[in-house]
Amino acid sequence: MVTRKGILFIISGPSGVGKGTIKDAVLEKINDMQVSISATTREPRSGEINGRDYFFVNEHRFQQLIDNDELLEYANVYNNMYGTPRQFVEENLNRGQDVMLEIDIQGALQVKLRKPEGVFIFIAPPSIEELSLRLAARGKDTQKSIELRLAACKWEMEQVEHYDYVVLNHELKDAVDKVCSIITAERCKVKNFNLERDMIDSSFNQGTNGSGR
Ligand code: 5GP
Repeated sequence: MVTRKGILFIISGPSGVGKGTIKDAVLEKINDMQVSISATTREPRSGEINGRDYFFVNEHRFQQLIDNDELLEYANVYNNMYGTPRQFVEENLNRGQDVMLEIDIQGALQVKLRKPEGVFIFIAPPSIEELSLRLAARGKDTQKSIELRLAACKWEMEQVEHYDYVVLNHELKDAVDKVCSIITAERCKVKNFNLERDMIDSSFNQGTNGSGR
């Protein structure tokens, strides 16, 4: 049987661009994807569940995770710490399972150093004006925090050169279709199959169990 290597997909982009919404919609359409649950020091929002949405930890525990090298990446995102537990990612990739991360840009750049073979997808806002409207509409941020996020957006947009794909989130359905297409195409890439190894294995098996030529 021909098997495939696990692929690490990183969905990332400026704050408020709609990464989370895109990720959720993509997961409804795509099978066999393991989603990493991040650790964070931020307080749970109403309706969020520990272990489902995030692992909510205090700063002391987060520092332990850093010190023990238990995080694949971590970043301070608007005064809260966020990080990707490393073991979950490694174990699933080693089992040939695909893994998806939805993280900020600082974190994605760290993953790029550790896992350059990952597939880096940059979700971009159609324009700064549109992003500003979206940040205001989602009602999670104060005016000051919106200004901070828009100021960071310039640097964030410049980081697109480190990514493999850019998807404009102009219209949700279109953006979701594009991310699904990227995943499908990556899953078909020859380099992601264990062709040589599996063919050697199967010819070896045929030779040893008497069913070969
Ligand atoms: P929120 O607090 O609104 O759920 O997320 C805030 C930001 O943190 C989002 O941009 C989200 O992508 C990012 N984020 C969530 N988990 C992680 C993580 O594990 N690492 C990094 N670097 N960013 C994360």
